[in-house]
Amino acid sequence: MPDPKVTLLDGGSLVIDGSQVHWHHDLGNEVRFPVYSVLVQIDGGPNILFDTGFDLDHVNEVLPFEKPEQTPEQTIPAQLARCGLTPEDIDIVINSHFHFDHVGGNKYLTNAQILVHKDELRHALVPEPFERLGYSDLSFHFDKSKYKFISGEYQVVPGVTLIETPGHTVAHYSMLVEMGDSPAMLFAGDAAYTYKALDAEVIGGFHLDPAACVDSLRKLSYVGRTRGAEIYPSHEMEPWLKWKKAPEYYGG
Ligand SMILES: [Zn+2]
Repeated sequence: MPDPKVTLLDGGSLVIDGSQVHWHHDLGNEVRFPVYSVLVQIDGGPNILFDTGFDLDHVNEVLPFEKPEQTPEQTIPAQLARCGLTPEDIDIVINSHFHFDHVGGNKYLTNAQILVHKDELRHALVPEPFERLGYSDLSFHFDKSKYKFISGEYQVVPGVTLIETPGHTVAHYSMLVEMGDSPAMLFAGDAAYTYKALDAEVIGGFHLDPAACVDSLRKLSYVGRTRGAEIYPSHEMEPWLKWKKAPEYYGG
């Protein structure tokens, strides 16, 4: 069993209304939430990055009401530097989906192959009207983007598996990382913003298909239980503050 090294990269934070975090709940509560990326390194294997955060200039220009906070230390190049890497060292990029707060750093990762759910790319380029702000940063789709189109459950390398969790977007992926000695880590992406979402089966306010969101929450819980994985939601400040962050890491 490989023993991956998993490092969480801090990408700053944004603000949305509580009812966007938990649909029909918490209306009128402004919530500041973290945005992070996950670096997975396996001895002799590729350097993998799951999600790449938001681009500060883009959010300031297009979604300033999300009150972005991102220091120069919280950009992808600076976070990778903490791990002794440059953007060119990333071999594979996985975006859980193509919303602006998950793709903003792709443009730095010019050597990487981008694993893409075929339906997600199609949809990002021709979104529904209510999804336009979500898909407003298309800088991930640059000239020389090296896509590999995938669908279904997908093994990136032994120990790293992508699991389809649609609903938030048409073709969202969560990532399961099996560790040597410690429990597996299941990165939900926006299929679960918070632990409350998982426990109470409350979906987020942004979604394409709310019923699919509920199924995906149940799938995450099922995978967590049956694979002995700890689930890491995408956008909840309290647990995030307790997790290890670069240059500290899990496993390895
Ligand atoms: Zn997000």
